[in-house]
Amino acid sequence: MHSKLMVGNWKMNGSLAANASLLSDVLAAMADLHCRSAVCVPSVYLAQVQSLLVGSSIGLGAQDVSAHDMGAYTGEVSADMLRDFAVRYCIVGHSERRQYHAESDVLVARKAQRALAAGITPIVCVGESLSEREAGQTEAVVKRQLAAVIHANGHCISEIVVAYEPVWAIGTGLTATPEQAQHVHAVLRAQLQAASSHADRVSILYGGSMNAANAAELLAQPDVDGGLIGGAALKAPDFLSMLKTAS
Ligand code: 13P
Repeated sequence: MHSKLMVGNWKMNGSLAANASLLSDVLAAMADLHCRSAVCVPSVYLAQVQSLLVGSSIGLGAQDVSAHDMGAYTGEVSADMLRDFAVRYCIVGHSERRQYHAESDVLVARKAQRALAAGITPIVCVGESLSEREAGQTEAVVKRQLAAVIHANGHCISEIVVAYEPVWAIGTGLTATPEQAQHVHAVLRAQLQAASSHADRVSILYGGSMNAANAAELLAQPDVDGGLIGGAALKAPDFLSMLKTAS
């Protein structure tokens, strides 16, 4: 199995000055950290962050990609454009995009396909809402979301990263318990194994109010291969503490 993968999702936060300051603090303390890591930044800052990360082990990531190759799609950014900036990872299907931009399972699967075709690792987000959990639908929801991506990308499914992000845990301070996270991760692992003999290569990250205080017990679960971190990735000491825990 790979080392743990810790990914900061900056969402719609940052500025030229704030990005430079955050990354200079993080990079100054990166020696001796052995986990894999990345930051997924707003697309307007890809060029800035690409140059700030030169020579470092932190991978560059984007937060979304178009499902189209090129052409008349105002406002969209293609996978080939991301590759121009040496982007290694791209989040697809984050619950905020599913919720606020009406992204369907099929659209998310096509975005993953575009990323893979450009040599970019899609970080495919799945997760249930609070009402779905309370209705006992957690497994059905995450399996349906992942099934669409497997259906469209079966031959290279071992090249993706999956992030389990229960919607009720995102930005709320409510974290899934280690047992809840492990249970869903094991379900997702089994689904990947049924689709590919190389499924053990897939890192399955947990996301949703992961922080410096709860990272260790989540990362100790056998099927939790890393984290997708929102708010706590915007503070250098917190992000560094989580990278240390994962190393
Ligand atoms: P928080 O860590 O702020 O809850 O966000 C999680 C998330 O959505 C990462 O993609």
